Amino acid sequence: MAALTYTPRGTGFTVRLTSGALELEASGSGPEDGTPSITGSEALLQNLSLVTLVLGYAANEHGFRRTRSPQKRAGHREAADVEQKDALALADLVTRLGDKTTTAWCSGCFSKVVHTHVVGSERPLRTYLCGQCGVPTVECGVPGCPHRAVIRPRTRIRLGYCAEHKHAIPSFEKLQSRIPDLGGYQEFLKFEARNADRIGKVAGGTIGAAAVVAPLAFFAAPVVGAALGSSFFGGALTGAAATSHGLAMLGGGAIASGGLGMAGGTAVVTATGTALGGALGAATVSSYVGSDPSFSVELVRPGSGTPVVFATGFLTEGQSAWSSWERLINTRYPDAPVYQVHWGAKELRDLGALLAVAGGKAAVKALLLQGARRGSKAASIPGLGWVLGAHDVVTNPWTIAKNRAGMTGATLSELIARSDEGPYVLMGHSLGARVMVTVAEALATRDGDPRIESMHLLGAAVGTRKHWHGFTDGITDGVWNYWSENDDVLRWVYRLAEGNEIAVGQSGFGSKDARIKDRNVSRSVAGHSGYVSAVTLQHGARRTMS
Ligand SMILES: [Zn+2]
Ligand SMILES: [Zn+2]
Repeated sequence: MAALTYTPRGTGFTVRLTSGALELEASGSGPEDGTPSITGSEALLQNLSLVTLVLGYAANEHGFRRTRSPQKRAGHREAADVEQKDALALADLVTRLGDKTTTAWCSGCFSKVVHTHVVGSERPLRTYLCGQCGVPTVECGVPGCPHRAVIRPRTRIRLGYCAEHKHAIPSFEKLQSRIPDLGGYQEFLKFEARNADRIGKVAGGTIGAAAVVAPLAFFAAPVVGAALGSSFFGGALTGAAATSHGLAMLGGGAIASGGLGMAGGTAVVTATGTALGGALGAATVSSYVGSDPSFSVELVRPGSGTPVVFATGFLTEGQSAWSSWERLINTRYPDAPVYQVHWGAKELRDLGALLAVAGGKAAVKALLLQGARRGSKAASIPGLGWVLGAHDVVTNPWTIAKNRAGMTGATLSELIARSDEGPYVLMGHSLGARVMVTVAEALATRDGDPRIESMHLLGAAVGTRKHWHGFTDGITDGVWNYWSENDDVLRWVYRLAEGNEIAVGQSGFGSKDARIKDRNVSRSVAGHSGYVSAVTLQHGARRTMS
């Protein structure tokens, strides 16, 4: 008899799966335990998808038992039930693995690998298990297509499509291909097959609450976080193999279907450079770009030398165009080719509208002071403070815009990693600066030649509290952070939205990292939209020969 049971152990857990003669046991101190112990039968341990499901179940069961909020408890319960049933169904498939194999592209891990037949699985679809990521795969529903589609372990569907025919990726063959320069991204992202799954496309194109909440139904967020630690699959896999397999799994099971998209995908790409330039990175970019119709990388000026890439942020109406940035960029890079990253038009518009409606800085300031007097957190104040500061509410416009900045950063880092051009100079204002810091974070985890020469951040909507250390690792020259104490948008709005955290654009990084250079431009910059027209970009103190 197959069973999956949960036993509390102090603040932690032990979960135990039995299926036929096979068994698997996992114990952890809690859902954020990055090194749970996982032991059991080799056949079960080798199935990465199964291990992920079991740990996901453990995390959600743990959450259900130890969370107070009824809404969260209900979410955990639902997710735990789905994962428990899926795990049992998948374990059953593992016990029935036969001898027949086939080698084909897997839509779960985007690898060309061996799949093994599950005996007695002819209905509703003849099923195999992927030898790498462990997901159940079936023939693609498009006649003649040699690639394999992913199905859920419990399924009644009669047709599945491969990642290529679902438009989750441009094509399997293009996953590893390079682009000559950033302008080549469109050709790279062009779908090579027709979309056979129009319903899937509509679902995958949505962004917002559904996309953020969905992961809970398949993977618990803490588990996703833990999976990013290389030791996560300690019992089954180790080191780099675990990381890349885990990521592939997360990518296949979630990013491609739009599930993990926002919350997980950014984390996946930024947490490890192994994804960059590879199959998972391609899938992530494809998914992100597909969900942001405003995304583009435009060559606004051809030139020679180190290419400059810039992105604007919110509340920058009237200065989102190249014409307003030309002076600024010319103060330092007069001949460089310049790319502008267009992104998040809808999210930035919604955020701007909210701030305008809410009455701007005076109202925000009053709310914040009121909160301080009460000794309460900003998040408990009704009104704008509630909307912006309610971290639990994934639909708040600030969180959505911030997540979009993360996704844009993940996308751009992937394109930069894949391009033969560069290294690049990155520049950003406000949330656009956040995009660029995310890019640097992702690229810093990657091996190989540095892809960033320097960065210029203006009024950056990036917190001082977060440990940004490490993001300069892949930068050859340095990071200039232009900040102004007169930046009221950062002073009030950012702090309110981020639970009193101070932005580096308002006070500087104050980092010990010698490559981060804070520049106080308070004298010339009177507000959040004053940077682009007033700042003079600094020249690097280039290292001299000693
Ligand atoms: Zn696979
Ligand atoms: Zn296909």
